[in-house]
Amino acid sequence: MSKKITVTDTILRDAHQSLIATRMRTEDMLPICAKLDQVGYWSLEVWGGATFDACVRFLKEDPWERLRQLKAALPNTRLQMLLRGQNLLGYRHYSDDVVRAFVAKAAVNGIDVFRIFDAMNDVRNLRVAIEAVKAAGKHAQGTIAYTTSPVHTVEAFVEQARAMAAMGVDSLAIKDMAGLLTPYATAELVKALKAEIDLPVFIHSHDTAGMGAMCQLKAIEAGADHIDTAISSFAWGTSHPGTESMVAALRGSEYDTGLDLELLQEIGLYFFGVRKKYHQFESDFTAVDTRVQVNQVPGGMMSNLANQLKEQGALNRINEVFAEIPRVRADLGYPPLVTPTSQIVGSQAVFNVLAGARYKTITNEVKLYLQGRYGKAPGQVSEQLRFQAIGSEEVIEVRPADLLKPEMARLREEVGSLAKSEEDVLTYAMFPDIGRKFLEERAAGSLKPEVLLPIPEAGGVAAASGEGVPTEFVIDVHGESYRVDITGVGIKGDGKRHFYLSIDGMPEEVVFEPLNDFVGGSGGNKRKQASGPGDVSTSMPGNIVDVLVKEGDTVKAGQAVLITEAMKMESEVQAPIAGTVKAVHVAKGDRVNPGDVLVEIG
Ligand code: MN
Repeated sequence: MSKKITVTDTILRDAHQSLIATRMRTEDMLPICAKLDQVGYWSLEVWGGATFDACVRFLKEDPWERLRQLKAALPNTRLQMLLRGQNLLGYRHYSDDVVRAFVAKAAVNGIDVFRIFDAMNDVRNLRVAIEAVKAAGKHAQGTIAYTTSPVHTVEAFVEQARAMAAMGVDSLAIKDMAGLLTPYATAELVKALKAEIDLPVFIHSHDTAGMGAMCQLKAIEAGADHIDTAISSFAWGTSHPGTESMVAALRGSEYDTGLDLELLQEIGLYFFGVRKKYHQFESDFTAVDTRVQVNQVPGGMMSNLANQLKEQGALNRINEVFAEIPRVRADLGYPPLVTPTSQIVGSQAVFNVLAGARYKTITNEVKLYLQGRYGKAPGQVSEQLRFQAIGSEEVIEVRPADLLKPEMARLREEVGSLAKSEEDVLTYAMFPDIGRKFLEERAAGSLKPEVLLPIPEAGGVAAASGEGVPTEFVIDVHGESYRVDITGVGIKGDGKRHFYLSIDGMPEEVVFEPLNDFVGGSGGNKRKQASGPGDVSTSMPGNIVDVLVKEGDTVKAGQAVLITEAMKMESEVQAPIAGTVKAVHVAKGDRVNPGDVLVEIG
């Protein structure tokens, strides 16, 4: 009996997300689409939260327009996206009307296959998205976010798959985002799923720990139907097993994919050239790293944490953070580490390490999590932590979105005439801040993608700080060396000279203010340093999300006076003493540093 294994290539989504921080531009995708379309892939993965975010934030491309262009260029191949269930592409739960509107528009613009997961594996958070995909006549794939813990047994995963099958999914995916699967665990899980449920099983495994291809082969032998691969020039490490390798491995066997190896090699060569263009986004964290088998930290999360710790000037404490992550995860009832739980757990672990005491600061997201607002935790959460975080506040038992009112009308109103289409409203809904900024810049005709640094072999090391040409430095901070490139991009509409400052490939736009006061981002004011008991300051650099008090207000000790954001997580800053607010030195959007006096209470 011969069984053809079908293939999804992730080159247009997860492969470049895993290796070059999701920076591949549409202009580098379109020239090869005619060839990609000839391969006979079951699907091409093209869209997801990070691709959408990177388009809007860095590339200044309309993600919907990218999708339409890919659809036109790939008429014979299914296009696939990764959808975070009720979170869609964002970090919060959306109301059902937003979920339905988003799925309908994604389908109309070109998505054929929706791989739908929930970070908690709480199937209640998948139901509306699955219904919406079926209503659009598209393929709904129910996803198991794979992880290991005392509560994640084969039986529990099969139970989840059964629940998704009952919701009408067309196939099942095992999504091993972290590279935690081992070959024999894969075989056991696939065998159990195939024995219990009559649906195709797809394997999405990362090669982080060097076992991706072994896992896929064991999965295939155990009855899996489908594998996700990446064309070889964007394969392995924190990406996926190489397409050409898997096709060659199965060629001539009963599992032959039937794909043309020569054509695939031409495509691989094309992307070999493309990857060089994005060299500034290559990091030290994309090669095979077996540590995930111990600390369970996914590759993408490792590089994020490294960058975040760098921002805090605390990269030297990364191993303490890696040790803290499993402890926070256990306290929260063992959620799989995938967006957004990876950020929630990771940031809290950073706070726990940097603050010098566990849970001295508890992020708002951890509080919401402990209220049940992301869904049901897989295991028991620490009741002690829950009490510390939310006291006797209510813990919800229902599906979180059951408590949300319809939002589309409000979102439409908020974004107003900036939105030229329902798609624009959804862009704003997914990313309120950067989405609005994108729509404003589009309206003003000032969209400008981040600057790409010249390819070293082609350009050589630049000597002068001319516009568009980087000057390189190596600086040492806390015993770590960083490569810093500064690229001048000229004087902009604000009359100020703009630069791109890139630290180890992570670019940030900076401006020179008058008096040559070199500042980053939007802030940079020199503030008084906290000294008195009523001086309110933060322990982490971040941004002010909200100011909850004004001069003259009476506050109690412990009352929240500010909300700050650091590492995508919000937390409250509390009044250290009771008294009257003497002065407020910050406004919404300000950048703040540890020790700055933000509010004075006397
Ligand atoms: Mn993945």
